[in-house]
Amino acid sequence: MSGNLRIIRADTPPGKHDHLDLILADGNCLRLQDPRRFGAALWTQGNPDNHPLLQTLGPEPLSDAFNGAHLHRLAQGRRVAIKTFIMNNHHVVGIGNIYANEALFHSGIRPTRAAGRISRKRLDQLASTIKTVLQTAIQQGGTTLRDFVDSDGKPGYFSQQLAVYGRSGEPCPNCNTPVQRLTSSQRGTFFCPRCQR
Ligand SMILES: [Zn+2]
Repeated sequence: MSGNLRIIRADTPPGKHDHLDLILADGNCLRLQDPRRFGAALWTQGNPDNHPLLQTLGPEPLSDAFNGAHLHRLAQGRRVAIKTFIMNNHHVVGIGNIYANEALFHSGIRPTRAAGRISRKRLDQLASTIKTVLQTAIQQGGTTLRDFVDSDGKPGYFSQQLAVYGRSGEPCPNCNTPVQRLTSSQRGTFFCPRCQR
């Protein structure tokens, strides 16, 4: 997704797609750049968690509230594909397409498998793998996707470690079977037909 939040010197002149500056106590500035205008900045005086746009959101993936028990509870009886399921912000926030593909690969779960047909044990594994994948990506400074930049404006390097995303036809890093691509909920979906069940 395009757009970014960056910490910069407050006297940096704004560019064409810069929409909001928050001046911080240390004199720096948190600047929102949003070329496609998908972002929003909303003022609230109450607890932000109770805002109508936020109160129905699921937990943050790196919080303790996000775990296999949480996924298992929500997945009961659901026939939706597990990849679509974990990308739904009402279940858990912030798992984008790339990280969903990668976490499912590292968990050995087929992206199209019905969410309600995955054992608690495998959902424990999936939740834990999602955390690892996100933490690794954060350490590497994110994934380079066109204009992605970290909060210092530098591109990320996580893309060099992607196991399946964007690699259709290339050998699976585990078993050398060619990675397959299909479209699920309008999103590019990459998996190893041998390692992921
Ligand atoms: Zn494989």
